[in-house]
Amino acid sequence: MGVSTDVKIVVGKKGRTLMTEYKAPLKDLRFVINELADLKMISQLPVFEHATDDVLESILDEASRFASEVLGPTNIIGDHEGCRIEDGKVKVPSEFSDAYQLFVENGWQSLDCSQDYGGMGLPTLIGSATAEMWQGANLALGLCPMLTDGAIETIEAHASDELKQLYLEKMVSGEWTGTMDLTEPQSGSDLATIRTQAVPNADHYKVSGTKIFITWGDHEMTENILHLVLARLPDAPDGVRGISLFLVPKFLVNDDGSLGDRNDVFVTSVEHKLGIHASPTCVLNFGDNGGAVGYLVGQENRGLACMFTMMNLARLQVGIQGLAVSERSYQAARDYAKERVQGQFPGNRGSVQIIQHPDVRRMLMTMKSLIEAMRATAYVTASTIDISRHAEDADMRASAFERTALLTPIVKGWMTEVAQDLTSIGIQVHGGTGYVEETGVAQYLRDARILTIYEGTTGIQANDLVGRKILADSGLAMQHLLADIAELDSRLASCGAELESIRSAVATGRLRLEQATNWLLGKAQDEPAVVYLAAFDYLMLAGTVVGAWQMGRAAEVAHKKLADKDGDADFHKAKIITARFYAEEILPRSAGYLEAATSDSSSAMELPEEQF
Ligand SMILES: Cc1cc2nc3c(=O)[nH]c(=O)nc-3n(C[C@H](O)[C@H](O)[C@H](O)COP(=O)(O)OP(=O)(O)OC[C@H]3O[C@@H](n4cnc5c(N)ncnc54)[C@H](O)[C@@H]3O)c2cc1C
Repeated sequence: MGVSTDVKIVVGKKGRTLMTEYKAPLKDLRFVINELADLKMISQLPVFEHATDDVLESILDEASRFASEVLGPTNIIGDHEGCRIEDGKVKVPSEFSDAYQLFVENGWQSLDCSQDYGGMGLPTLIGSATAEMWQGANLALGLCPMLTDGAIETIEAHASDELKQLYLEKMVSGEWTGTMDLTEPQSGSDLATIRTQAVPNADHYKVSGTKIFITWGDHEMTENILHLVLARLPDAPDGVRGISLFLVPKFLVNDDGSLGDRNDVFVTSVEHKLGIHASPTCVLNFGDNGGAVGYLVGQENRGLACMFTMMNLARLQVGIQGLAVSERSYQAARDYAKERVQGQFPGNRGSVQIIQHPDVRRMLMTMKSLIEAMRATAYVTASTIDISRHAEDADMRASAFERTALLTPIVKGWMTEVAQDLTSIGIQVHGGTGYVEETGVAQYLRDARILTIYEGTTGIQANDLVGRKILADSGLAMQHLLADIAELDSRLASCGAELESIRSAVATGRLRLEQATNWLLGKAQDEPAVVYLAAFDYLMLAGTVVGAWQMGRAAEVAHKKLADKDGDADFHKAKIITARFYAEEILPRSAGYLEAATSDSSSAMELPEEQF
């Protein structure tokens, strides 16, 4: 893969080069992928035989270069220039089109796509690592391939062979992009109220209605866009059981794959937003001129189940967006803290770099430890996806599937909530300079703000975790997770005093999560409102404890490597210190989440509406 680096760097009004640098955190990425997410085991699955160590290593290196040299510098350009609609056409910064073109030429879209349609067929674990790099470098642009990825998976899993043959290769190559069209003005979190109509018409359907907030819903970076649209058939039952999924191309595609007529789907406006300025968030009108041609994906009235293929992957990826934007904010904060000289340190004469102040240390360590915990949680989840799909053993597939389902709302909900805090701390480390737009760190906070909203708000993730993942199986999946966490205890104990505070924190966190789970199960029958009041705190508790577990695993590996004099000793020592910080300073938050979750209080429900 050859990568051109011919991308402009923006210079601020006062002639200062803006902080646009992004460096993929390759050391930690490799550590997590290899030591915690067990890439070796994943790459030995028969389907990944071609994914040799050499191939994977060079992909990570090239992706890192591409992210920092091509995508990264366009991030602030997108924030400044945004996107707009002109003569019915959506315009994004030309630097985005250039960078996307290179993305396609380098084959990045195809990385973890099936070889049947021209993909490289690599593990989702590797696709997740490159996704972190794209999102860290440029979240607004990264959304475009992210949605295409989800659309590819959905079409591959549910569409007819004919549709797959006609559309998938161009999507896998990145020549055509995909969108996800659920939301309507009256239909956000609650998709049961969708009104878009699809009327059977010979071999296709005529789709009409309005979708709002459609990410990368229109643009000219590619010659075609494939919309995956939720709509209702005329005789469909009410509610979610009456929703079907349709593929609606912007341009119709002839049997030989060439482009045909313009389809009846048009963008009518793009939103002005707090962040991700250059990601066009579109209102799309379908069928104003007689009906947009759409093709059924999956079975009639089973559309929501199909769309969940896309939404589950997207939830993992949005969690990774939270990780990625936090990492970028951390890099800027860390570099600034090493340069900025301000204040004196007790016992020292003269001013010091602010990184020497204990409170700045606290902020940077909070960022670093949570980022590393999130990275481990996300990649371990990605590896369960690979196992659930490709392991030869059926039991292994089933338990990996159960784990993916349990961890997905935690990755999405907890990691994106944490990203709000971390990108805010990134500004705090900069002082007033951080609040000023020109520094660039304010953009990370603004960009991060959407992450707890799209792909299901945190409230919806919390409901999903409690309702579908805990109560629905009487806590079985959580019991399995708690048992895995318990297994770490004796291993950490055998590492001696150095890891004792980590061992004890993981054990305490595990007990708290178990206690909260039992409380939920006990209340489920008689007090559903109290259970759903607890859902957010339960989600945050689960994320905090799973993060501690992963940091405990990381510390165990680092300890062993140090004892064996294997690898980068400085990195491994830092990993243990960071895990200790997580255990001593972050894990205690779980006590507050437990107390709030299990308080039995229903005061939030008691206050009369007029008193709000
Ligand atoms: C920039 C951007 C990009 C987007 N991209 C896409 C896209 O590509 N495709 C697409 O289809 N949509 C997209 N969306 C829409 C997004 O998914 C919705 O905004 C989101 O699902 C929330 O729906 P809503 O805005 O209608 O809020 P509402 O559903 O009205 O929610 C408002 C508040 O009520 C809470 N709430 C609602 N129901 C419940 C419940 N049952 N339990 C507890 N709390 C609840 C929510 O948590 C939230 O806090 C995008 C939105 C934005 C802003």
